[in-house]
Amino acid sequence: MIAKEPISILLVEDNLGDVFLAKEALKEGRFPNTAVAVVKDGEEALDYLYKRGKFNCVEKPDLILLDINLPRMDGKEVLAIIKKDEKLRLIPVVMLTTSTAENDILESYYNHANCNISKPVHLDNFIDAISKIETFWLLTVELPTRF
Ligand SMILES: [Mg+2]
Repeated sequence: MIAKEPISILLVEDNLGDVFLAKEALKEGRFPNTAVAVVKDGEEALDYLYKRGKFNCVEKPDLILLDINLPRMDGKEVLAIIKKDEKLRLIPVVMLTTSTAENDILESYYNHANCNISKPVHLDNFIDAISKIETFWLLTVELPTRF
């Protein structure tokens, strides 16, 4: 599969340090022209995905990077809502965790996370992880192009 460009990624992350790392890693990744939209809590993520309020003109993302621990509504709840929606569930969701808490990981997969990764602490490792995510989810797998 050849991914269309520019790729659009929704990053749901409340930690500014992790937002910085993820954006830097995406710049170094397979798609330097990636459009990255950042929202900082779970309710805002759903507003974005349902194009509510100030998000009424946004495009559906090609990939969602979803932090598990978020204010207002945590990533696991957001994931559950996405995966119950017949359209949104087709977007790959990569869950980002800081811990290896077994319950978080179990609950994520129970709610149909496409995968879970532990957030790397150092930029080089973050770049490596993002590059692998992009290579797999945007270049290797076949995804539906219309929905
Ligand atoms: Mg967080």
